[in-house]
Amino acid sequence: MNTLLRIAIQKSGRLQEGSLELLKESGLSISNGKDQLKTQARNFPVEVLFLRDDDIPQYVEDQVADIGIVGENVFAEKKKDNRLIKRLDFSKCRLSMAVPRGENYTGVQWLQGKNIATSYPNIVKGFLAKHNVEAGIHEISGSVEIAPGIGLADAICDIVSTGSTLLSNGLQEVEIVMQSEAVIIASPTLSPEKQKILDKLLFRIEAVKKAKN
Ligand code: ATP
Ligand code: ZN
Repeated sequence: MNTLLRIAIQKSGRLQEGSLELLKESGLSISNGKDQLKTQARNFPVEVLFLRDDDIPQYVEDQVADIGIVGENVFAEKKKDNRLIKRLDFSKCRLSMAVPRGENYTGVQWLQGKNIATSYPNIVKGFLAKHNVEAGIHEISGSVEIAPGIGLADAICDIVSTGSTLLSNGLQEVEIVMQSEAVIIASPTLSPEKQKILDKLLFRIEAVKKAKN
């Protein structure tokens, strides 16, 4: 049986286009029919799995996928047994703390004793510990930016790209907690055959990057 490197990418969303483009520019011939779960490249020993981005670190840890493309924010939040192999320069955003615009935010200490709504509890925990601040963390999975307005939290920590969502919800960005971009993560143990395919793929990705610059 021929060895295939299984690559997990986002099924739909802000990482999907960049992920597919990267693989295609690297010379992989892959079809991306809307409802497929997986597809095999026609000219390279690779199988692509289409998944929700949040699930990818677990699939890689479980070795259902060998590598995956996720936001660095998701990699950092999930804390799975994954290696960060390469930063990819797309889907750039930041994870920031924001508070209602009327608040006189004076620094991280402002957060002491407050309640923070976020989808990234582990990253927020780490940030607070680093700054010796104790605050409550309220984990919600979506529409985090409405939490202060409905009285659910005093502050939020969420993904920001342009800041327009914050603005329309009456919030101001006060701390950048982390910068993020798409990254390749890999299982810590790959067979020599799979590692060889990965090395070949990484070589091609590097070549594409050089050609672009
Ligand atoms: P899924 O349905 O797969 O769970 P999702 O809704 O969690 O998708 P997306 O909104 O598609 O996720 O975002 C995926 C990743 O893209 C984020 O984790 C982040 O790394 C990055 N991202 C999010 N928002 C932006 C943005 N506005 N600009 C650039 N990159 C972003
Ligand atoms: Zn997601």
